[in-house]
Amino acid sequence: MTFRALLTDRDADGKVASAVTEIDDSRLPAGNVTVDIDWAGLNFKDGLCLTGGGGLVRAYPHIAGIDFAGTVRDSADDRYAAGDAVVLTGWRVGETQWGGFAERARVSADWLVPLPHGLSTRDAMVVGTAGLTAMLAISRLEAAGLAPDAGPVLVTGAAGGVGSIATALLAKLGYEVAALSGRPQHAEALTALGAASLVDRHAFLAEPDKPLESARWAAAIDNVGGPVLGKLLKQIRYGGAVASIGNAGGIDLQTNVLPFILRGVSLLGIDSVLQPYPARIAAWQRLAQTLDLAAYGAMVREIGLEDLPQAAEQILAGEIRGRVLVNPR
Ligand code: NDP
Repeated sequence: MTFRALLTDRDADGKVASAVTEIDDSRLPAGNVTVDIDWAGLNFKDGLCLTGGGGLVRAYPHIAGIDFAGTVRDSADDRYAAGDAVVLTGWRVGETQWGGFAERARVSADWLVPLPHGLSTRDAMVVGTAGLTAMLAISRLEAAGLAPDAGPVLVTGAAGGVGSIATALLAKLGYEVAALSGRPQHAEALTALGAASLVDRHAFLAEPDKPLESARWAAAIDNVGGPVLGKLLKQIRYGGAVASIGNAGGIDLQTNVLPFILRGVSLLGIDSVLQPYPARIAAWQRLAQTLDLAAYGAMVREIGLEDLPQAAEQILAGEIRGRVLVNPR
């Protein structure tokens, strides 16, 4: 048996390139569950893996794709049987393990989650790593005391995958969402997702920098890091918190201690990759109950394996809107 995959390889000069290739099943990595993939998602990290960035991929040839949903083909693990619908996100799949940009994958049963009730495999990839991480961030902020009556919540990188789902989820849960984006052309789409106000990233960063600024936000979900995170920390209201998810705008963080010691602000790190199973199940259940998939539909685009190299460049350039789904067939 063979399957189609986007195989990523590195040449002698270190140049990384990908091509759709027919691969024999015997080359699948070790694992106790084989999955026929219906859909994969495109995430920022996939952009790095497909272009050789970030040092995430250690061995070539490689199949990228950090999340996928599909049907169990065969299983040597009691928890799964042929025909079961499953989702996988994280666990370094698509980085150190072959991932979802293929018709088939072989993985450890420990990394799988049964498809949440009420979601199709396509729905699960509309959500994907992006939605799971957004929900983990919201739940973490709520555990730190955030409630809808606390005031506006700022979401950065709002037009991207994590940011757009975070905007939609927060609005559905009754929060007042301020969507920070560098792309004014997506303002209408963000308003349709439930953003109550829009913050222009360039204007935000151009405001004079002070050690402590007017307290505007009850909390924030930050997907970009860098100067945006440094500045928004100074604008969090007394006792508020910031969930730090991503680094699309840089890994550096320049701030000072005043937000922490004068306003009691908390900076909470969110990692979806190694999130333990019970927390994943809880987040998926809450996502299935909360996200209005029909309303989010306009933010979703479908592509094939052959379109991925171009889409990888686009996501690294911050040009992707919402979620991109990959149909490997
Ligand atoms: P996307 O590319 O879909 O979204 C990122 C958004 O960030 C862009 O759409 C853009 O939004 C904004 N952005 C891009 N470049 C810059 C820049 N130079 N300065 C400021 N903002 C910028 O990526 P994802 O949503 O998939 O991922 C977002 C981040 O979260 C990534 O860094 C990713 O690695 C991280 N991540 C972390 C996870 C975790 O477990 N911690 C899980 C999933 C993702 P706009 O145009 O609206 O400004």
